[in-house]
Amino acid sequence: MPAAFSDPIWRKPQTAPAFQSELSAGGALDAVIVGGGIMGLSTALHAARAGLSVQVLDAGAIGQGASGLNGGQVIPGLKYDPEWLIEHFGKERGEGLVDFAASTADAVFDLIRDEKLAVPFTRSGWIQAAHTETALRAAADRDRQWRSRGADVKLLDRVEIAAMTGAKGYIGGWLDRRAGAIDPLSYTLELARIASAAGAKIAERQKVVKLARDAGLLRVAIQLGAELRAKSVVLATNAYTDGLLPGLAQTIVPLHSFQIATAPLPAELAASILPGGQAVSDSRRILVYCRKSADGRLVLGGRGRMTLPSSASDWAHLERALVRLYPALAGVTIEKRWFGRVAMTPDHLPHLHEPERGLLAVVGCQGRGVGLMSALGKRMASYLATGDIRRLPFPFSPIRPIPFHAFRQVGVATTIAWYRMLDAFER
Ligand SMILES: Cc1cc2nc3c(=O)[nH]c(=O)nc-3n(C[C@H](O)[C@H](O)[C@H](O)COP(=O)(O)OP(=O)(O)OC[C@H]3O[C@@H](n4cnc5c(N)ncnc54)[C@H](O)[C@@H]3O)c2cc1C
Repeated sequence: MPAAFSDPIWRKPQTAPAFQSELSAGGALDAVIVGGGIMGLSTALHAARAGLSVQVLDAGAIGQGASGLNGGQVIPGLKYDPEWLIEHFGKERGEGLVDFAASTADAVFDLIRDEKLAVPFTRSGWIQAAHTETALRAAADRDRQWRSRGADVKLLDRVEIAAMTGAKGYIGGWLDRRAGAIDPLSYTLELARIASAAGAKIAERQKVVKLARDAGLLRVAIQLGAELRAKSVVLATNAYTDGLLPGLAQTIVPLHSFQIATAPLPAELAASILPGGQAVSDSRRILVYCRKSADGRLVLGGRGRMTLPSSASDWAHLERALVRLYPALAGVTIEKRWFGRVAMTPDHLPHLHEPERGLLAVVGCQGRGVGLMSALGKRMASYLATGDIRRLPFPFSPIRPIPFHAFRQVGVATTIAWYRMLDAFER
């Protein structure tokens, strides 16, 4: 990853094990997983438990990608609501996708509970805060669709949202009690620990540079010279996808998500902000999301510039958003500023590819991969173990590079500027 100014709030716990040199020796493996984020580690955990021999390789340290940098909001669902999924994918696949989408937060919290993971978390819900009447109508429709399926959700009016968030400017919203918030770096490292305990080998600082086919197996060449052979390879590189599989990087638009964290807030101030401990994302085109951390800071994030940040001023737009929502925080110290990459696809859905038998890739978290990739990794492991395509919630699609991908940076920057202006007009 290129060097840039970035100082995350999440710290590696002292108990986190080191995985530096766990490279499998000799023989052909069942699966090599490229990428040691939530997707790769969840796949590795469940594949190892299904009896497969598995090696995870990450170009950096475990948790150095988006998985250890994110906002830790565990939000069930996809960007689309149940009725859209059924209309778009047909009754059978659509219903399966709705059930999958509903289960993604459980995938995280069940694991934390069942495996007694050392992960700070709260599970008191996620609020989608509406800033316009149009957004509130969309929230009401979402509420109707999920409530009719028995989900623990609720539409919030102006008074309720003001009380639950303590924020200015929202006219209502939607509470999804299936959701919650975690410390994402602890979660990723704990996933790695239990995957390793289940038998998966995990190696850090092992960048995969080449894949080749050899007599029914895939050869995986690592930058430092080693080579592994496997029946299957899963590329779990998401927004950090490089040129390993031709065309794959051109199927996504990697965007930067920036975050800030205040100093721990005085008790009285902390009590007036998100008193119930919910996480929030709002309905703006360029959305703002926030939550409190276990040590009482407000953590707030949103889109950031496409080029690498170089100084604290690159986060100034988030400091302005913080004070707009919480005027009482004017003048509070911002102690941490950091960023990471999220992968968007043109249809806002994750994409699964298998361009040749055993060569698999998953990209496109849409900035919501904590629950999604946890659940998808389990399904991917099941597919690896059985070869049964019905285990996967999404169909495989061909690798289709986005036209004029090389110009995406200019296009995205222009779109973001335009959306920011529209959001400002709606204030
Ligand atoms: C700032 C920020 C805030 C976010 N907030 C939230 C949130 O609150 N809630 C939510 O659900 N989602 C959030 N997301 C999205 C979420 O973090 C991601 O969807 C999720 O972590 C993706 O996991 P992953 O395992 O697919 O990818 P990553 O965790 O990014 O892992 C990919 C890994 O692949 C490795 N890699 C790449 N190329 C190679 C190679 N050639 N060889 C070896 N290794 C390679 C990289 O080093 C990296 O570690 C956020 C993301 C960011 C950046």
